[in-house]
Amino acid sequence: MTSPPVHITSPPKYRAYTLQTYRQVPQMNALSEDEKFAIDVVGNVLPFKINQYVIDHLIHWGDVPNDPIYRLTVPQRDMLLPHQFDMMAHLLRRGASSDEIRKMANEIRLDLNPHPAGQLEYNVPTVNGVRLTGVQHKYPETVLFFPSQGQTCHAYCTFCFRWPQFVGMDELKFAMKETELLIAYLREHPEVTDILFTGGDPMIMKTSAFASYVEPLLELDTIHTIRIGTKALSYHPYRFTTDNDADDMMRLFDKIVASGKHLAIMGHFNHPNELSTPALEDAVARIRNTGAQIRTQSPLMRHINADAQTWARMWRRQVDLGMIPYYMFLARDTGAQHYFAVPLVEAWHIFREAYQQVSGICRTVRGPSASATPGKIQVLGVSEVYGEKVITLRFLQGRNPDWVHRPFFAKYDENATWVDELVPAFGEERFFFEEELAFAPN
Ligand SMILES: *Cc1c(COP(=O)(O)O)cnc(C)c1O
Ligand code: SF4
Repeated sequence: MTSPPVHITSPPKYRAYTLQTYRQVPQMNALSEDEKFAIDVVGNVLPFKINQYVIDHLIHWGDVPNDPIYRLTVPQRDMLLPHQFDMMAHLLRRGASSDEIRKMANEIRLDLNPHPAGQLEYNVPTVNGVRLTGVQHKYPETVLFFPSQGQTCHAYCTFCFRWPQFVGMDELKFAMKETELLIAYLREHPEVTDILFTGGDPMIMKTSAFASYVEPLLELDTIHTIRIGTKALSYHPYRFTTDNDADDMMRLFDKIVASGKHLAIMGHFNHPNELSTPALEDAVARIRNTGAQIRTQSPLMRHINADAQTWARMWRRQVDLGMIPYYMFLARDTGAQHYFAVPLVEAWHIFREAYQQVSGICRTVRGPSASATPGKIQVLGVSEVYGEKVITLRFLQGRNPDWVHRPFFAKYDENATWVDELVPAFGEERFFFEEELAFAPN
């Protein structure tokens, strides 16, 4: 079976620019000296990369610096706290050595909570006494897999919660080379039906490398769904159309589908501007031709998509293209969260207002949801119970499945941006799940 290209556009030469080379981009060199200095300062702490497709097709340069894709790609002054910015600015101004700069960068990074939600302590499983450092198993039915060759990304989103692995904090990096251990683990855990390839971005890999991870899984009857989390559709759609091994990837998708498994591309999109190019349309059409489904997810981010109209437009456009809206996330408590975070209550207002104006076909989306230590917690809304204003929440996923879909209540708090800032309503001492969580071994 072949997936006919629809109107494959001629690809630009792939070029990516970094902190060292971004001034070669005419549009970026035209920024003010102040803005460029801010990029230099912040870009020494948080990862920065931009490619030609993003420059030519996604950023509307007339709207810079407010352009959403610019904000999500290029480091901005306020992404560091003022004292952090000043410390790094001072080093750069006095021409400090690269050693000093690296040391300072690492100090600031450690202040930015590089591994939120207990990812290092809680979720790493073992098989025959070996820790599977490239695997996270938090919810019974789904295993996350971080193949070692997929630990970078087509985008370096300024809000990324996986950012430490892009800046060389190697000891904090999750990754795994071998699939044998994964397979052994899955054989011991028949409750696992889904495997989610993540990273970084697994679609950064050559098709042959990706195939070596995925093909052994096709033999396992217990696995029903293979998910691929990726930003490539948005930031490098040519991965699925004109890259050297794009056709091979489509044939691999065919093979996964033919094996009887569900193949779900979990596309990361943050704004409708990422959904408007012919290159994206081509990529979506080809993927859908293989029988794979595309589901979409995005965090809600100040300066990028913090309004209901943007979300409603984005979901409608995704459905037009044949994609299925899946998750709206809250900004995680890491990196530049102070810059991007939208309070939980405001997030609920945005979600509700967007949800109200789209048809049921778009309402497959769930959110706003916080991926926190105990689980994925959805903000259901604000209500009043016996005169007390409360926030109603529930687990979409829980470390203990028994917690899922039980409404629970927190004191109303307009400013809370993360679930650990909430306290229980009605004078309760703790939330119903907290005692068990405190003793959770994994
Ligand atoms: C979100 C998530 C999953 C998948 O949950 P679904 O509700 O099935 O999409 C699996 N593992 C972890 C750690 C997650 O954060
Ligand atoms: S696409 Fe995901 S992993 Fe890649 S930089 Fe963005 S948030 Fe991080």
